[in-house]
Amino acid sequence: MPHKTGRCNLNLTYNAELKPYNSFGVSAKATCLAEIHASEDLEQAVELADSNDLPLLLLGGGTNVLFAGDFPGMVLLMRNRGVEIDRESGLIRIAAGENWHDLVQTCLKNSLYGLENMALIPGSTGAAPVQNIGAYGIELESFFVELDLFDCNSGNVRTMNRKDCNFSYRDSILKQPRPRPQVVCSLTLQLLRDPTPNLSYPTLAKELEPIGDPTPQDIFKAVCQIRRRRLPDPTKIGNAGSFFKNPVIPHNEFEQLRTRFDSPPSFPAKEGIKIPAGWLLEQCGFKGYTKGEAGVSERHALVLINRGGATGKELHQLAMEMQARVQSEFGITLEPEVRVICTA
Ligand SMILES: Cc1cc2nc3c(=O)[nH]c(=O)nc-3n(C[C@H](O)[C@H](O)[C@H](O)COP(=O)(O)OP(=O)(O)OC[C@H]3O[C@@H](n4cnc5c(N)ncnc54)[C@H](O)[C@@H]3O)c2cc1C
Repeated sequence: MPHKTGRCNLNLTYNAELKPYNSFGVSAKATCLAEIHASEDLEQAVELADSNDLPLLLLGGGTNVLFAGDFPGMVLLMRNRGVEIDRESGLIRIAAGENWHDLVQTCLKNSLYGLENMALIPGSTGAAPVQNIGAYGIELESFFVELDLFDCNSGNVRTMNRKDCNFSYRDSILKQPRPRPQVVCSLTLQLLRDPTPNLSYPTLAKELEPIGDPTPQDIFKAVCQIRRRRLPDPTKIGNAGSFFKNPVIPHNEFEQLRTRFDSPPSFPAKEGIKIPAGWLLEQCGFKGYTKGEAGVSERHALVLINRGGATGKELHQLAMEMQARVQSEFGITLEPEVRVICTA
């Protein structure tokens, strides 16, 4: 039942089941869930949470979270919509609740380019800057101009530019834990008006080899094809994509690794050498691993899956087991990319 007040109709559900709102498809309860369609909803929901001493949790598509237990607080489900496009300048302003993949398609339809390498990343646009989403040689950061942020502590809205966000690999200042969350309400991106294919990622370049001079639409299609082949579809089998970040190790540790393995896969990184976490996990035998209803994808050792009836706690335990094994086998610490919610 909508909770009515003088100012607006806030759509609230008490004792809310979160299974439909997380791509792992695990069951968890929240004290209450509020749908945010407009800034008034946000203000009112935060006020209500404050007056009931409820912690807050933001959720977009729920494709990068794992509920390892219930959430004894208020979930703010970002559902505000709207896209403003200026084709002349290539600037585009998007409401946080817009779906990311739909946005990529909208940009292509409007002859604005650059995002096609990030096609089919599930989730909302508002969450995209939180972990500086990226795929196939591109990160959000390259197109980012600014975002509008609602501070649940002060109730103020402020604008943050690229420097303020402090983006890095699957990270930004927005990912840092805070007692009260900061809500991305909208973001502005600068897109390219001329097609500028980025084929720096070898798998993508190989996929497009038969096409001499690929267009952004060709890249879009190729990225979708590769992703559908490599990753389980979260609408069919519960998962949150890559569970861990790829670790970066110092050069001397990489040399040690090379004494054990002929040619371990690696990429140069700012602070050392980046090793694919999926490869480390595969060496530990986790590809296709099963533990009850929790498991690891047969296609990719970095993707934890819910085979149907796994609990969030079981998936979390499996993730910790994987982390511990990589630590003992390689002395490398895997950091989760997925946010684990384990408050109760
Ligand atoms: C099959 C699959 C493939 C994936 N592939 C990729 C990939 O290639 N590259 C990549 O980078 N990621 C990938 N992901 C991870 C995920 O899609 C992205 O991180 C996405 O941006 C998450 O969006 P979401 O709306 O679902 O976020 P949620 O899971 O709802 O939230 C993620 C985090 O962001 C916070 N948050 C959500 N909305 C807001 C907001 N409006 N303001 C502030 N904070 C907010 C949440 O509190 C939480 O901490 C993949 C996931 C899946 C399931």
